[in-house]
Amino acid sequence: MTGAATVVPYAEAIDRYEPVIGLETHVELGTVTKMFCGCPASFGAEPNAAVCPVCLGLPGSLPVANRAAIEYTIRIGLALNCSVASWCRFARKNYFYPDMPKDYQISQYDEPLCTDGWLDIAVDGAGFRIGIERVHLEEDTGKSLHVGGATGRIHGADYSLVDYNRAGIPLVEVVTKPVPGTGALAPVVARAYVTELRDVLRALRVSDVRMEEGSLRCDVNTSLAPPGAEWGTRTETKNVNSLRSVERAVRSEIERQAAVLDAGRRVVQETRHFHEDSGLTTPGRSKEEAQDYRYFPEPDLVPVAPSADWVEQLRATLPELPSASRARLQAEWGLSDLDMTALSNAGALDLVADTVAAGASPADARKWWLGELSRHANDAGTELAALPVTPAQVARIAGLVASGALTDRLARQVLDGVLAGQGDPDEIVAARGLAVVSDEATLLAAVDAAIAASPRPRSSTTIWIWAAAGGWRRCPR
Ligand SMILES: [Zn+2]
Repeated sequence: MTGAATVVPYAEAIDRYEPVIGLETHVELGTVTKMFCGCPASFGAEPNAAVCPVCLGLPGSLPVANRAAIEYTIRIGLALNCSVASWCRFARKNYFYPDMPKDYQISQYDEPLCTDGWLDIAVDGAGFRIGIERVHLEEDTGKSLHVGGATGRIHGADYSLVDYNRAGIPLVEVVTKPVPGTGALAPVVARAYVTELRDVLRALRVSDVRMEEGSLRCDVNTSLAPPGAEWGTRTETKNVNSLRSVERAVRSEIERQAAVLDAGRRVVQETRHFHEDSGLTTPGRSKEEAQDYRYFPEPDLVPVAPSADWVEQLRATLPELPSASRARLQAEWGLSDLDMTALSNAGALDLVADTVAAGASPADARKWWLGELSRHANDAGTELAALPVTPAQVARIAGLVASGALTDRLARQVLDGVLAGQGDPDEIVAARGLAVVSDEATLLAAVDAAIAASPRPRSSTTIWIWAAAGGWRRCPR
């Protein structure tokens, strides 16, 4: 071989090797206060304004666990079909980063709050049950800002700033079991899992699950091995921060690891960084083993022992989960599996549901979101949900068409106005005089005015008018 390839085309890689994936997802909980102190857990305050001796790790300060965070974690565990521990402890995870003021993180180690569940997902009509290893509770770190370098990383930076506002915000980690058997679908399965998990968390109202703001962060584990062989060495691609990147990160690791294995070399167990621009990963630090963290039970906190009664109360308050609401909507709307997949893939399901709830017919709601609005989203390079139009406004436009007040063409103009920030549909109709005139007397007066204003009307001209109820009619002149 003249200079081993650094990547193998995806189809070839999948021909020769079987991937096993695993996902570790961190979710910042939307509690009012932090995990172990009373500081606000909100986003966007002045740097180092939302801190106190506890979350700064000052000597003599003592943590107290946030009951709401424990409740949220149990709800997540229940929604993911996990068992909830009747007794468990927090653990100290020792490692040293400037954004971690205590120089250890309070986490959970061998006694997680929730274990052994699953989440079902569907990809291209095929169902996959993703095993959930554990759901545990910990605290987030602060944030470092490296100033002066080209990349925003510490290498090449002139100096670094640290903001501890995020330190101590409750963080739940959801860890899957290894997922074998996905074959070529591995990247899509990874993305579908994170999407479904995000939707479950959103339905539970435990987090705002904004990947772009970091309240949902994903580490993607990938390994490759020849068919039938033992699983290969996995790499962990850190902090992949969009759904699309989850898919690309798995794909890129499969292509890279196949080249390593083809060359007869070993895949190194390490963390890797995903680069949005190139779609490639580069090595980070070599992966720590558990013993590097010197875990031990957190001596400053009492054990967590949720009573069976409390857990059952929480189970009873679980909302309808996304898979159940999809099945219900599909039946109510009379859609095929294919139609539902199209809605999900377009990110339009919630939007259509909200538009129907605002009064539009399911058919109209689908037509607007999958048609005109998808086109606008494509043109703008954004997602449907990010368009500056609400489901209620879409429902109003659909209603104006249904009542005959607007034609489809005029309705599209009204929609353009809404998207351009010119106001609600009714305001735009009024401002632009866009409404269809269907009153016959008004129409005839307009025809008379047009004829009178015309310099030389030809006597043989036949004038047709559109009457809303009666279709085209010859003008009675
Ligand atoms: Zn604090």
